[in-house]
Amino acid sequence: TTKQPDATTTMVCGYCSTGCGLNIHLKDDEAVNLTPTVDYPVNTGMACPKGWEALSVLDSPDRGTMPLLRDDHGRRVPVKWDIAMQAFCNRFKDIQAKHGNHSVAFLSTGQMPTEEMAYLGSLTKFGMGMLHGDGNTRQCMATAVVAYKQAFGFDAPPYTYQDFEESDVIVLVGSNLCIAHPIMWQRVCRNPHNPEIIVLDPRTTETAVAATQHLALNPKSDLELLYGIAHILISEGWIDEPFIRQHVNEFDEFAQHVEKYTPEYVERVSGISKESLHYAARTIHKGKRVSLWWTMGVNQSYQGVRTAQAIINLALITGNIGRPGTGANSITGQCNAMGSRLFSNTTNLLGGHDFKNPEHRQKVASTLHIDENLIPTEDSWAYDRIIEGILRDEIKGLWVICTNPAHSWINQNTYKEIVERLDFLVVQDMYHSTETAQRADLYLPAAGWGEKEGTFINSERRIGLLKKVAKAPGKALADFSIFRLAAHYWGCEDLFEKWQEPEDVFQSLKELSRHQPCDITGVENYQMLDQRGGIQWPYPEGCKESDTQRRLFADGRFFHPDGKAQLLFEDSRDMPEPPNERYPYLLMTGRGTASQWHTQTRTSKSAVLRGLYPQEIYVELNPQDARREGIRPNSVVQVDSQRGSVTAKAFVTPTISPGQLFIPMHYEATNQLTLAHFDPYSRQPSYKNCAVRISPS
Ligand code: SF4
Repeated sequence: TTKQPDATTTMVCGYCSTGCGLNIHLKDDEAVNLTPTVDYPVNTGMACPKGWEALSVLDSPDRGTMPLLRDDHGRRVPVKWDIAMQAFCNRFKDIQAKHGNHSVAFLSTGQMPTEEMAYLGSLTKFGMGMLHGDGNTRQCMATAVVAYKQAFGFDAPPYTYQDFEESDVIVLVGSNLCIAHPIMWQRVCRNPHNPEIIVLDPRTTETAVAATQHLALNPKSDLELLYGIAHILISEGWIDEPFIRQHVNEFDEFAQHVEKYTPEYVERVSGISKESLHYAARTIHKGKRVSLWWTMGVNQSYQGVRTAQAIINLALITGNIGRPGTGANSITGQCNAMGSRLFSNTTNLLGGHDFKNPEHRQKVASTLHIDENLIPTEDSWAYDRIIEGILRDEIKGLWVICTNPAHSWINQNTYKEIVERLDFLVVQDMYHSTETAQRADLYLPAAGWGEKEGTFINSERRIGLLKKVAKAPGKALADFSIFRLAAHYWGCEDLFEKWQEPEDVFQSLKELSRHQPCDITGVENYQMLDQRGGIQWPYPEGCKESDTQRRLFADGRFFHPDGKAQLLFEDSRDMPEPPNERYPYLLMTGRGTASQWHTQTRTSKSAVLRGLYPQEIYVELNPQDARREGIRPNSVVQVDSQRGSVTAKAFVTPTISPGQLFIPMHYEATNQLTLAHFDPYSRQPSYKNCAVRISPS
């Protein structure tokens, strides 16, 4: 029987970075169903299928209810938390004693609340002496972080979602907003200015179909194309010279750099005619409020940082920043990628500080009342270096929290190899069935979204509240409680004695943010976040309730010491593995639907969401290629790369160009094909290009 709710509370969704507000309807303090919140400023009454189904995935037979410890026969045996945490500490301590502190590392997530990330980062680095840990945000946002830091002086996406509705020109680069961020797309659709929408994407995606200009460029020619647009803007004098003079460094050098990116050259490289290129540049020039947006098509590339900065450069040279409807705007992937960027204690010291800066270490030590010597003086290794460290036998113990790298890491075969090399793998997750959890020596059952509290920070820098509206099954615990247990068994709980509840951590993080660009000292407590519908950073002490429009750079001051933004640029690099005679197709991977999330760990548990998306892996290919290879629509095909083979169903469609293939990332097999190659600055994996062949199976 359906329970009739007797109360309603509001919290944010736990999938994507849009950060929609959801009304959770309760019976006796337990969630029974949900509806999108009408007066939440992000989504104003809308939600995508994942949000609507957020509660249903909590109830699943493969939820972990007890810790599982692998015995001498390789079986996973249920054990009490006491046994599990003793094993956790003994095994990791043994490894550290034999091989040094650096020999144990962690991999975490952009899906956990900020407070849990901060606890984990502090526990591992300050308490357990680990040097290395990274998050799956490396797979989605690392490029944007580096691009912003170098260009603006801080990792600071400048926009509010209102900008989608205020632009008269919207440029989307490598973003299928329509399905990847469907509620943001709805905000574009609500734009009353009849905006020109320019989409740069090799595929004719749902978003490209709705665009007024689709530049279907050759894969990874985006850097050249963006420089080509800059070339036209500069040579036509379509730039904002007063803004550049006052607020931007390196303009002359940039102008010289893009001289060679003539429309003729860019046409040859990108396949986009010089007329279309000129028309796009003219559209940007004519626009009064131009916003430029990017996401994974840019970030997941071997030259992602410079490509993101080429977008930032366009905004800067045309003065499209700091005003309504403008900006160089990175759209984050996960619900709390931003929290991870600022507070996970991996490559940034807590609060967007720098491990290498003695003043920053001193500030963190005094704020947290810990010995400064406990704080490492170097950044963590990035994700790929941690994997390499395992392959070199330097890292022997790994703690994986709330992520599924055996499915999601680029070139999956490497991940399988590392599991064999590790002496001890601990996986902490809601489900004991993930590809990674099944390989664990110790599995720790965790509570999920809706079963614990904390905060997420969304793409527009809005801090939203997560609440406990359901009980975790069996003996599963909130990650926060697991970290507290780990601190207790490790013997370092004294360091964190003030952190009894997530809100205690939030109060510390506020203090750590003081005088930083992300200063949130004016946010009093969780209640204030709840009452205000979330609050965007910065929100320093003294902010008024009416200070709701938190677009950055309205005063033209950036975060570099001289207050100016920096133009950054360099020539395009060669594609690491271009198509060749044996492997003549270029494979791209990415999001395939609005109704599944990443590795489907959670979303596959919903019958509704499963019904909205094929459960069988498929590959998109162009009809010309299908004819050439003798492949019929819906037939079974084999796709091979130098690293692996995948059997999939053929989806023959003109929305993909000849010579290109697309396989969604949601299927376990996809990353058997991908090539482990990385952006040199952000170390983000380049998921969108490797050479493959296709044949009837
Ligand atoms: Fe909103 Fe994203 Fe949740 Fe969908 S998944 S409801 S778009 S926050």
